Amino acid sequence: MSMDFLVPPKSQTNRVAKSPWKILVVDDDPDVHDVTRIAVDGCDFEDRPFELLHALSAEEARACLSEHDDIAVALIDVVMENDTAGLGLVSWIRSELGNSFTRLILRTGQPGYAPQTDVIMKFDVDGYAEKAELSRTKLITAIVTALRGYKLVLSLETNRQRLKQLNTQLSAIVEKNALSEFAALVLENFSDLAGEPVDGLLCGLESLSQPGSAGVSNVRVLAASGAFEDKLDLPLDVIGEDLVRKCVSECIVNKTEYSTSHGVALPLITRNGLSGALFIGLPLATLNEKIGSEIIRLFVSNVALGYEKTGLLEHIRNLAYVDRTTGQSTFSGFLEAFQSQAAAEHPLLVIHCDIQRFRFIVDGIGDEKAAAVLKQTGHRLSQTFPDALAIARKEKDEFLILLRGGLEVRIQDIVARIEESFQEPIAIDENQISLKLRCGIATADEGEHSAEEIVRHASIALNDVRQKGLTNHAVFHPLMQEAALERLRLASLLTGKGAQAEFSLSYQPIMQASDESIAAFEALMRFRTASGATLNTMRMIEAAETSGLIVEIGAWMFRSAFSEFSSLKGVSERVRLNVNLSPRQVQAGRIYKDIEDAAASAGLGLDRLVFEVTEGLFVNNDQVTLSVLTWLRNKGAKVVIDDFGTGYSSFSYLRKLPLDGIKIDRSFIMNMEQDPDALAVVRSIIAVAKALDLSITAEGVETAEQRKIMQELECDFLQGYLFSKPLPSSGLDAFVTASNCPDLAAG
Ligand code: C2E
Ligand code: CA
Ligand code: CA
Repeated sequence: MSMDFLVPPKSQTNRVAKSPWKILVVDDDPDVHDVTRIAVDGCDFEDRPFELLHALSAEEARACLSEHDDIAVALIDVVMENDTAGLGLVSWIRSELGNSFTRLILRTGQPGYAPQTDVIMKFDVDGYAEKAELSRTKLITAIVTALRGYKLVLSLETNRQRLKQLNTQLSAIVEKNALSEFAALVLENFSDLAGEPVDGLLCGLESLSQPGSAGVSNVRVLAASGAFEDKLDLPLDVIGEDLVRKCVSECIVNKTEYSTSHGVALPLITRNGLSGALFIGLPLATLNEKIGSEIIRLFVSNVALGYEKTGLLEHIRNLAYVDRTTGQSTFSGFLEAFQSQAAAEHPLLVIHCDIQRFRFIVDGIGDEKAAAVLKQTGHRLSQTFPDALAIARKEKDEFLILLRGGLEVRIQDIVARIEESFQEPIAIDENQISLKLRCGIATADEGEHSAEEIVRHASIALNDVRQKGLTNHAVFHPLMQEAALERLRLASLLTGKGAQAEFSLSYQPIMQASDESIAAFEALMRFRTASGATLNTMRMIEAAETSGLIVEIGAWMFRSAFSEFSSLKGVSERVRLNVNLSPRQVQAGRIYKDIEDAAASAGLGLDRLVFEVTEGLFVNNDQVTLSVLTWLRNKGAKVVIDDFGTGYSSFSYLRKLPLDGIKIDRSFIMNMEQDPDALAVVRSIIAVAKALDLSITAEGVETAEQRKIMQELECDFLQGYLFSKPLPSSGLDAFVTASNCPDLAAG
């Protein structure tokens, strides 16, 4: 028999003194102790020497075993104090002491005196020998065999403990519901289990796969250790190591272990449709040798269980943080990303963008395809900004982008990047849809602002772009916010004393196109702060509309305009007063009374009035609107559509509505000299209006050329800076006199 274990090859490296194997000799015969000592002298097993402990009775043995919990082997004499003292000791060790690790070898001096086999069966005894038979070789062979057994039960126990510990850790992480943390801990624990750092990957789906989406296109590296550390977060598809990739995909697709000489992928099989794989960069045989296939199996099924729970939680979390239409972040996700970035204390930049005329797109292609447009928009944005810290859909057609800010960021570059990436139209089935994005941009320096605040700044800037319509982007400026604050101030101005001092009216003349005599004056609101600064009318009107204050302001406006107009001298009875009516005013029940009262107190007939309404008013085609307009016309007032061509333009409704005329929007007039399309639109608007017997007014006539074109097209009325800017009421008399002069001269 080979005795190589007695003389193990000395390793070249410095050997660390290892703790000895403790071996307890229990015998009432002192000679046996001596013989045993001589027999094992100088022996070791796996570089660890033997250390003998001695007990001359079962009694002494109990004391010794109680004191040392790391005795590897006990050689126990059967007959000592009494015939069964040794057997009693065995029973005591296993049952009362609760020690199931120490290997036990029974020895007897009397040939033929064998202990009952049931004791051996019952108490996990490793061997039985007659003392006479125990030659040195046999004794040492028996001890070494027992030591192997001891090592095995110990490692099983350690692994059991590790798994127990792992389970507690797993459930702790499950509560945190973070899949990546869970995955990292799995690899850490696997290294523990293997007793050395392993090159590992934990791959899996982040969220439940869509039904029918087989394959591994959705798989991502959730955790990576050792040589694979740089693979973290990568999609499986892009991992360079072909073998690893193949191994993991095969494992996930077939849900079975896949082993190569480089490593093994163990499947994580869950009941909820998640799938994943734990890849370890060691051959399966090595793993089984190191850890044991049983333990690995147990470990992996535990991991699968944890993965199932965390994965599901993450999926539920994703529902809140991932926008279903676009696959981008939700607003909540964006705010969270912002907060985690703000902690990093570098300047941030938020872009709030929307799609110009998205409403038309929805009307044109329907909700479903419009959703596809949004998805592609999100996708383009993420391609445009691979460096984005977050991209989210806020609502409808609005997106948010979070970028690193600071001095090195050039806004022009950002805007150019967006423009360029939307140069190509988006293809939805047979439709090619060109998109134009508008953006509001705001920056946050060193966490000065909360996420909500900076997003609001970006939104205010976007609103500015929308209202002005001049550029496709704007950077937030505190002045913009001032206007928003002004809206609040407006409320107190209206209700407070002396409020009217803050509003005034300007009047812009509208000329008869044929002879350029005054046909009407359009009353336009003016808003002034206490300090005398003029505020943007459009924005103020919009603010008044959204807050509902327009009804109150409108009532004031009717009173002032009617009375100022009726006190105007030298104008013919033909000259009318145009006033603007916003949808909110029309919807308010008090409109009849407000108009009648104002007209009565000014002594002005309603037949001197023209009401300008917007196309938006007719979208819902509701009865209230029709009643108001019909009432006005019955009283002799006229009703015209303002800004015609910009809204939900459709000629078809013109025929059905109680209307007298249209005002062609300034944007067409402005462009018709250079843009043949604009001119064509103007021509067709005029043709239709004439066919329907509607009067036509051209807004924003600024040049003589524009005037000429409109006169040739037989437009009825002209309005614009060419004739006059809006004038304060104090300037009206002079204007009337001046324009009456030619008449006087002629007459
Ligand atoms: P609007 O009804 O389209 O009024 C015409 C706007 O174009 C006025 O701006 C006027 O100053 C401007 N404008 C006139 N001619 C020219 C031109 O030749 N060139 C250029 N570039 N602009 C010209 P304003 O006064 O700022 O009014 C803006 C809008 O506010 C008005 O647009 C109207 O929709 C609204 N608004 C004004 N006053 C009232 C009001 O009393 N009630 C309601 N509901 N809305 C009002
Ligand atoms: Ca108007
Ligand atoms: Ca207009």
